[in-house]
Amino acid sequence: METPSAPQEFEVAIGSAIAAPEAFGASFEAIPEAGALELGTDLEGDPAVAFRRTLGMFATGVTVLTARVAEQVHGMTANAFMSVSLRPPLVLVSIDGRAKMGALMHEGTRFGVSVLEAGQTGLSDRFAGRISDDVPEPTFEIVHETPLVEGALAHLVARIVRSYWGGDHSLFLGQVEFARYGEGRPLLFHGGRYERLIEDPRVFSRLPSELLDPILALGSERSYDDGETIMRAGEPGDELMVVLDGTVRVRRPGRDFTLGAGELIGEIEVLDPSGGRMADITAAGPVRCLAVSRESLLTALEADPRAAIALIEVLAARFRETA
Ligand code: FAD
Repeated sequence: METPSAPQEFEVAIGSAIAAPEAFGASFEAIPEAGALELGTDLEGDPAVAFRRTLGMFATGVTVLTARVAEQVHGMTANAFMSVSLRPPLVLVSIDGRAKMGALMHEGTRFGVSVLEAGQTGLSDRFAGRISDDVPEPTFEIVHETPLVEGALAHLVARIVRSYWGGDHSLFLGQVEFARYGEGRPLLFHGGRYERLIEDPRVFSRLPSELLDPILALGSERSYDDGETIMRAGEPGDELMVVLDGTVRVRRPGRDFTLGAGELIGEIEVLDPSGGRMADITAAGPVRCLAVSRESLLTALEADPRAAIALIEVLAARFRETA
């Protein structure tokens, strides 16, 4: 196996003569010749299992694909769903050649996509053929003559505009006719099992005030002017802070939010300082904070092991959320 050198940035000027071919899809018509699949030397056992496990490292959401034939509704769990294009709005799904669902997917027909919420593992199992008694019967809403699973986090209805050979799967490209989403957290699938996003990243702020207040009492006050940096992503997380007055702006990759008086910042990093700060935090207006150093924090935990035990319980509950 060759180790390639670091990839270089493509130098393609916008509007240059180099562009996507007119008929990109045409290449899908030709079935590629079967070639040998080389697996990493540390991957032992059945090559098919090793390949599957490699693919399983790609984390996805979970959907239920649905179709209607006359008055009958059929659903199937699928994580091989991807967004393809915004203009026109296109999505792609990949369906096993042995699945009944495939027989209902034809160019011109519609299918529904229901993106499942974190608590809907039972529905996912149900539509994957793993029926358990404690899962209620799913109910459907018909939109654009297409069934959608009620209670899902997001819904799409798409009309199949192309279908492609995909080895032991078939690929269906759908033009989206309807889309909506609600509030909530998605169900995730990774490494062959369900996962979910941790809902509440707070740690110290979960402690009862009788345990938290003595820790905060060891802090010293700081003031910041509007726009001033309070914490910078990547720097060592050697302090925990509580906002006393004002508002702070938290910027994490993909997420911006504000925190106000009484909220804690830097509470995860102070327990794991080697990882560095996860966010840039700036003052949005004048801000007063109380800063507790990691050293003072450890002294407080030594002085009152009840606080240390409570923290372990909070962290253990986090693991339970993702297990
Ligand atoms: P069946 O196996 O007959 O039906 C599926 C199940 O849904 C049955 O239990 C059936 O009772 C129930 N069901 C169907 N319609 C209704 C209804 N109207 N009301 C109540 N229950 C109904 N396979 C793929 O091809 N592509 C994927 O991307 C994919 N991703 C998956 C991701 C996950 C997380 C899981 C768990 C499985 C995935 N599968 C995928 C496997 C796929 O879900 C199963 O193989 C499924 O059983 C295939 O469904 P089928 O169409 O053959 O129908």
